Amino acid sequence: MQWEVVIGLETHAQLATHSKIFSGASTAFGAEPNTQASAIDIALPGVLPVLNKQAVEYAIRFGLAVDAEINPRSIFARKNYFYPDLPKGYQISQYEEPVVKGGVISFMLDNKAYQVRLTRAHLEEDAGKSLHEDIPGATGIDLNRAGTPLLEIVSEPDMRSAGEAVAYAKALHQIVTWIGVCDGNMQEGSFRCDANVSVRPLGSDTFGTRCEIKNLNSFRFLERAIEFEIERQIDVLESGGVITQETRLYDPDRDETRSMRSKEDAMDYRYFPDPDLLPVVIEESWVNSVKEGMPPLPHVLKERFISNYGLTEYDANLITSDRGLADYFIAMTSNTKASPKQCANWVAGELLASLNRAQLAIDKCPISPDKLTQLIIRIEDGTISGKIAKTVFDILWQEGGEVDQLIDSRGLKQVSDSGAIEKIVDELMSQHPDQVAEYRAGKDKVLGFFVGKAMKASGGKLNPAQLNDVLKTKLAG
Ligand code: ADP
Ligand code: MG
Repeated sequence: MQWEVVIGLETHAQLATHSKIFSGASTAFGAEPNTQASAIDIALPGVLPVLNKQAVEYAIRFGLAVDAEINPRSIFARKNYFYPDLPKGYQISQYEEPVVKGGVISFMLDNKAYQVRLTRAHLEEDAGKSLHEDIPGATGIDLNRAGTPLLEIVSEPDMRSAGEAVAYAKALHQIVTWIGVCDGNMQEGSFRCDANVSVRPLGSDTFGTRCEIKNLNSFRFLERAIEFEIERQIDVLESGGVITQETRLYDPDRDETRSMRSKEDAMDYRYFPDPDLLPVVIEESWVNSVKEGMPPLPHVLKERFISNYGLTEYDANLITSDRGLADYFIAMTSNTKASPKQCANWVAGELLASLNRAQLAIDKCPISPDKLTQLIIRIEDGTISGKIAKTVFDILWQEGGEVDQLIDSRGLKQVSDSGAIEKIVDELMSQHPDQVAEYRAGKDKVLGFFVGKAMKASGGKLNPAQLNDVLKTKLAG
């Protein structure tokens, strides 16, 4: 029997607002427990929530980025349940009328283009957190996270493998961080996925029963959890069992999922419109002004870089993998004296490698785009060779300084004076008569020997093209 896998993801992205969705309390991560939970966040009697406009604006931004419909009128509802990290007994969410409807996430995987449809994205508040490790024999409750704005992004069951699900999640992560609505920090829980997984006989047109694996906060866990769950469901079905719809948890230490609660004891949340909150009305003029403030999206920039600057697909992908990197490259290309292609080579090559080595994000890069551009201009006008440029790059990285001044003070200028090059070549030829003879007897490879010696003698500063010409002429005799 062949099985087909069906996956839909629900993703919670914490919105990067400074304050909570319904109160003025801070959303900063890592504060002392319960120092950032206001009376509103925990719904003490008599308080009234006030909607954070920025959170709505971020939801609009997201909707625009994924080609969704922005609902002109959406409703906040209370989803009622008790859990220790939700002592107020209900979560404010959106149920029947979400702020964002539809949309699509596009991505490439193994050279194939995929499109996953979105069902909706709605605003809601995060709950607090249970701390199981801090107090021996007891569980602590930290309500700092209560009321942090979330955008819950729900996909259609369009994915057919763990690989596709991870690629979708990465594409979504790239979008929310690119447009600046979420910091994307998965360790801190700013971006976490629930994976709904089912299997069905290949060719069947009805879906199998699904299980939902909660709170996956790394791409690796997402992949492992889905892989495990697929195997488990196939095993159950092939041994004659049935899948019961349930919520499961992934345990990374054991690399398995296990049941948390079944649909039998699933709760009736008794959703009803929150009487304390007005409907959210979004005028078209607001949507338009958000649209005007949107940065160009990664796929748009990628196409632009390829068609305007002749970048390779690979370099264009690398440079648009991160908004900061793309901004850096754009800043470089604003100087028209440097070729964009050469700029891309340096960004995708030396710069990215150095950032990775130092584990630095682009906004902490010690070399400004202006300086790197200046360096490239000096390669292109023949002042220094590409090889020496790497040396200058390293000095800029470690010690800072100005490009031209460094080239001068360290004597790194390329020697393009043919007299000087000829002098070095003449000396080398008289020191190595055997190699000269070998070359003249037809052993072309000996040219490389002389190039190496000449470069060494000059500290790598000879103009490589000129050196080649001089060597060829002189060696030919
Ligand atoms: P709920 O609100 O109970 O979680 P939804 O119908 O809203 O249920 O679906 C939640 C997620 O589950 C969506 O991402 C959807 O694509 C996915 N999903 C629905 N049915 C299946 C299925 N049979 N197999 C896999 N995923 C599914
Ligand atoms: Mg669900």
